[in-house]
Amino acid sequence: MEMMLRNMFQALGKSRSANRLAKKYGLRFGAARFVAGETIKQSIDAVRKLNEDGRVATLDHLGEFVFSEAEAAESADMCIQTLDAIASSGVQSNLSLKMTSLGLDISRDLCVSNMKRILNRARMHNNFVRIDMEDYAHCQVSLDIYRELRQEFDNVGIVIQAYLFRTEQDIADLNELNANLRLVKGAYKESPEVAFPEKKDVDDNLKKIIKQHLLNGNYTAVASHDEAIINYTKTLVNEHGIAKDRFEFQMLYGICEDLQKQLSQEGYKVRVYVPYGVDWFGYFMRRLAERPANVWFVLKNMFK
Ligand code: FAD
Repeated sequence: MEMMLRNMFQALGKSRSANRLAKKYGLRFGAARFVAGETIKQSIDAVRKLNEDGRVATLDHLGEFVFSEAEAAESADMCIQTLDAIASSGVQSNLSLKMTSLGLDISRDLCVSNMKRILNRARMHNNFVRIDMEDYAHCQVSLDIYRELRQEFDNVGIVIQAYLFRTEQDIADLNELNANLRLVKGAYKESPEVAFPEKKDVDDNLKKIIKQHLLNGNYTAVASHDEAIINYTKTLVNEHGIAKDRFEFQMLYGICEDLQKQLSQEGYKVRVYVPYGVDWFGYFMRRLAERPANVWFVLKNMFK
């Protein structure tokens, strides 16, 4: 049953017509628990609230299904406007983005040129941009573009997914760049030919790469709500005397709020991933696929 729900949410998230319909009717079914709003103003207000108790943020303007150069440019413009809004409001946040929304599936050059526009603006504001990692089909090209960008920019980081077999080698290769990495378990449905099918193997691999990257001396964002992973990181940094400014914990907006606040009170840097925008449906479906128990939460909201 759980697997069936997971597959259904994954498929719905990829459905263009479901996304189009959702866009038309606005945030529904309790999506507001996971998505900060549809406008920049709403997202900045949400970040300001997080900042009040010491949490920082990474804002993500949601954009899926980009098929034309104009749509990709529009998406890049939204990223730039988000960086401007962060700067003018004074909130503590950087930016996360997906390169498919900047035209990666149209042409690599288009995506790189949009990335450079965004990174230049981020540099002007002394801010940082994180490239989210998408499905396996985009993994190699994303890493290649990241390497290219690093020749010109040092205000950019990327994400590495523990469920992929290739990950340990990627971490080793990225060490020469002293890459600032966000380490996650991985959110997409991947084939057992490229990814660990068993959760325990993914968890073990996440611990392994957290250790590998931190002990290599690189800035590490541990992005997980899993208390076992968080406790593992706490013990590791204590044992190796790794300073609190060399890593951070990251969690998603609306998930494990108490844990976010608790870690922040303990003096750890906690960054909350705050998505916003009218393209909320695909993101919402991925969150439901991660935890089908959330379906009861959705049903409750449908009948409110
Ligand atoms: P899990 O073992 O899945 O969950 C541990 C516990 O966390 C659960 O028992 C539950 O209590 C809670 N929890 C987890 N997910 C949910 C949920 N949806 N709703 C309610 N409770 C939940 N993945 C990518 O592939 N690419 C990315 O770029 C990427 N960026 C991310 C950025 C951040 C800041 C975070 C936190 C995650 C990101 N992810 C990304 C998603 C990640 O890969 C996992 O799918 C997701 O974090 C769930 O795994 P977990 O580590 O929290 O552990």
